[in-house]
Amino acid sequence: MRNYDVLIIGTGVAGLFAALNLSSDKQILIATKGTLEDNDSFLAQGGICVQRDEMDFEPFLEDTLRAGHYENNEAAVATMINQSQEIIDDLIDLGVAFDKKGAGFSYTKEGAHSRARILHCKDMTGKEINSKLIARVKELKNVSIFENSTLVDLLVAGDRCHGAVLRDQAGKLSNVYAQSTLLATGGIGGLFSKTTNFAHLTGDAIAIALKHGIRVKDLDYVQIHPTSLYTGRSGRAFLMSESLRGEGAILVGKDGQRFADELLPRDLLTKAIYTQMEKDRLPYVRMLLKGHVEGSIAGRFPGIHAHCLQEGYDLVEDYIPVVPAQHYFMGGIAVDLNSKTSLANLYAAGETSCNGVHGKNRLASNSLLESLVFSKRAAQAIDESFQCALPYPFPEPDARSIEAGLKEANRKLLEETGSEEEAHAK
Ligand SMILES: Cc1cc2nc3c(=O)[nH]c(=O)nc-3n(C[C@H](O)[C@H](O)[C@H](O)COP(=O)(O)OP(=O)(O)OC[C@H]3O[C@@H](n4cnc5c(N)ncnc54)[C@H](O)[C@@H]3O)c2cc1C
Repeated sequence: MRNYDVLIIGTGVAGLFAALNLSSDKQILIATKGTLEDNDSFLAQGGICVQRDEMDFEPFLEDTLRAGHYENNEAAVATMINQSQEIIDDLIDLGVAFDKKGAGFSYTKEGAHSRARILHCKDMTGKEINSKLIARVKELKNVSIFENSTLVDLLVAGDRCHGAVLRDQAGKLSNVYAQSTLLATGGIGGLFSKTTNFAHLTGDAIAIALKHGIRVKDLDYVQIHPTSLYTGRSGRAFLMSESLRGEGAILVGKDGQRFADELLPRDLLTKAIYTQMEKDRLPYVRMLLKGHVEGSIAGRFPGIHAHCLQEGYDLVEDYIPVVPAQHYFMGGIAVDLNSKTSLANLYAAGETSCNGVHGKNRLASNSLLESLVFSKRAAQAIDESFQCALPYPFPEPDARSIEAGLKEANRKLLEETGSEEEAHAK
């Protein structure tokens, strides 16, 4: 029988940072559906927000609330902002190298930010953060990692969570017992045909939560990002980071004229782009950096530049065709400010959870920060409330009933999130 103190599902920033913040006397298992690096955290381009100084608290709060249509949980927003500097210090201690400008850090701006407050590592911020977290987690003697190991159910009895059922690559099911379980399974992009997310991120934990009657929130709050690279092909959409527009890139229609403020909140700019596409009768609008972005474009955006070249576009010189694509999920498993779910001993953090911090529409570069702040708080809450109980004896998992349960749970999730057309039309 596999028995751990803490079971963490997912190796994005939320799962890894929780492991790093749990006390070293805990025996921890981290299970993840793909490889360690197959997660959206790795893809994050633009950066991570931070409260720059005391004067920035109110503007940061207001920007987040305005982008979220004032439907945010204000206490969650304040908690995130108040802990932002501490999280950045933690990341620096873990070896993350943010870009510098002179003696200080380089801050960029993205849509709906009233001030430049986004730290970045060129256009590969997520890769820099997640690879440093992976390296540090691998050094921990109390942590085991199972790759290609999929959460397919939770072990629930007596009003508490006792662990989870995992499926390995060969399809074998096992009960994994844990005193505390943290769900950090990311978003739902894999449910959409056009998404910037990894295809295997299909909201599994949220579906399983629905199956067990665990509280969920705002399941129809799906974010469409205004600018992904238009290719006309199916498959993962490549994100054209908001920081391109933050640094000055413009959007134009067929007539070469600008049609919107490029730094509108994401949902409003997406609407403006769809209106322009309809007017132009084209499946994209165009983005131009040349003459609008100062400094070395290839130096500041090496990843995006290289990808565009592969697709036949020169980011430095050319108009680039862009189109909206599903990007982020504001809803999820309902949690409090310590990432506790409505089921005892079950926690959720990162994109799969919903503490209301983003309201109806997430402000750019608040996701990495939210995931890190609230996974650290989850780790602290787990440590503080930890009590060893004897594992509840569950029968060996039955493949047929697990599959049937998952099918029904996924059907419910799709019903709640709404159709792809509805998400784009909102
Ligand atoms: C292209 C792109 C660019 C982005 N840029 C930024 C940015 O610049 N700034 C910002 O703040 N945010 C950005 N975001 C959003 C941000 O990256 C994510 O919201 C955040 O990283 C989520 O972290 P997470 O740990 O919750 O989930 P993820 O990093 O997605 O990790 C989820 C993990 O759960 C695992 N998993 C899923 N289902 C199961 C299952 N059933 N069983 C076991 N494991 C499972 C996955 O394999 C993965 O390891 C971007 C997102 C994308 C897609």
